[in-house]
Amino acid sequence: MSFEKLSLIAPILRALETQGYTAPTPIQSQAIPVVLGKKDLLACSQTGTGKTAAFAIPILQLLYRQKQSEQMPNRHIKTLILTPTRELAIQIADNFRDYGAHTGIKHLVIFGGVSAQTQIQSLKQGTDILIATPGRLLDLWQQGHVNLRYVEQFVLDEADRMLDMGFIHDVKRVITKLPEKRQTLFFSATMPAEIAHLANAILTDPVKVAVTPVSSTAEKVEQRLYYVDKGSKRSLLIHVLRDPQITSALVFTRTKHGADRVAKELNKAQVRANAIHGDKSQNARQRALTDFKAGAIRVLVATDIAARGIDVDNLSHVINYEIPNVPETYVHRIGRTGRGGASGVALSFCDLEERAYVKDITKLIAQTIPVVEEHPFPPGEVPVEKPAPVANMRQSSSQQIAGKKKSKRKWHGRPQQKKA
Ligand code: AMP
Repeated sequence: MSFEKLSLIAPILRALETQGYTAPTPIQSQAIPVVLGKKDLLACSQTGTGKTAAFAIPILQLLYRQKQSEQMPNRHIKTLILTPTRELAIQIADNFRDYGAHTGIKHLVIFGGVSAQTQIQSLKQGTDILIATPGRLLDLWQQGHVNLRYVEQFVLDEADRMLDMGFIHDVKRVITKLPEKRQTLFFSATMPAEIAHLANAILTDPVKVAVTPVSSTAEKVEQRLYYVDKGSKRSLLIHVLRDPQITSALVFTRTKHGADRVAKELNKAQVRANAIHGDKSQNARQRALTDFKAGAIRVLVATDIAARGIDVDNLSHVINYEIPNVPETYVHRIGRTGRGGASGVALSFCDLEERAYVKDITKLIAQTIPVVEEHPFPPGEVPVEKPAPVANMRQSSSQQIAGKKKSKRKWHGRPQQKKA
C-alpha cells in the first residue's frame, strides 16, 4: 500500500515525501479513507502507531478541498482536536505543520500551564484547525475567545487517558458546545466501559478500526537501565560509547539545545557525532542522516520530533539520554533498533526526577527493565531499589547487569496517569 493509493492530493504527498514516509502505517491505511469519506471513526490505537497522521492527513485534505471551492475563505474553526496533554498537543500541532506545509491550512495550539495572552491574540487572527487541551479550551471559550459553532470535524484523541486524568467531564462539556451535525473521530488505546459509553453517545454509525498495541514492539529489544545523576549523564554516555559493540547509536534528548550540547561534548571526547533537530535546515538534517547511515558518524543525537521518519537499518543502539515523560515515546524510540528481526539494544539513563517516568514505562510495557548496577557513575542522592538478578540476559563483557526476568504478563490496558 502506498500513500498515492489513498488518493491523497499532491501538496500532502509532497510533504510526506519530505518527512521520509514511504508507506502508510496500518492505522493510516484503514482510517484515511474513512475520514476522507466524511464518516465517523472509532479507532483503537496508541501513540506510536502513526495515529496522528491518520487523522491529520485526511483532515488537511478535506479542508484544502473545501477552501478551494469557497469563494470567500473564512478563518472560523472548522476542526477541533482535543487531546489530554500539552506534549501531545504540541506534537499534533507539529504534525499539522509538517503534513500541511504546502496546503495553506492554518492551525493553532492552546494548552494550560502558560499565559493565555498569546493564545488569545492568535485566536483573534482566526484558524482553520484548533488543537487544545480541555481545561484551557473551556477557559477561553467561557471568556468568549473561542467560537465552536462552525466546527465540522471533531477529533477526540486519547479518550481513555482523558478519563484516567480526570478530564472526562471537561471533554463532555466541550462536546455540548459543538454543532450536532459534524464528523467525529474518536481515538482511544483501550475501551473501558465509560469510554465505550461516551463513544456510543457521540458517534453516528462509526467505522471501527483497531491496530496492535505499540507495547508489543518493546519485547524484541534488549533493554538496560542506568541510574545516574543528571550531572553525570555526559560522562556515562562517553563511558558506554567505549563499548565497540555500539556500532551506531541514536541518542535521544528532550530539547534541541540538549541535542546540540550532547553532540558537541561527544565530539570533544573524540566520538564522532552530529545533532539533528527542527532548528537545522532540511539540508543539514539530511546530510547528518546520510553521514550516519553511511557510518561516517557513529552517533546521531536527536529530539523525538526530529527523529520522526528517520529510518536507519542496522541501528545497533538507542540511548535515552533523557527519559521521555510519555511512556509510548519510549516504546517508539526503542523500536528504532532491532528492526527486521535484527537484535537491538536500548540503554536508558535515568536521574532522580525521571524515576516516575520509568515507572510509567515499565507499566506500559509490562516488563521491568534490567538495571546495570556496575558503572562508574552511580547516583549519589537516593539508594536505588535492588531488583532480583536477571536470568538468561545477554551480557556485554564490560557491563554487569542485574534486573528482573522479563514479565510474561501481557499488557491489557493503560496505566493510570498521575499527572497532567
Ligand atoms: P503517532 O502514533 O502519531 O505518535 O506517530 C508515531 C511516529 O510515527 C511519529 O514520529 C510520526 O512522525 C511517525 N510516522 C507516522 N506515520 C508514519 C509513516 N507512514 N511512516 C513513517 N513514520 C511515520
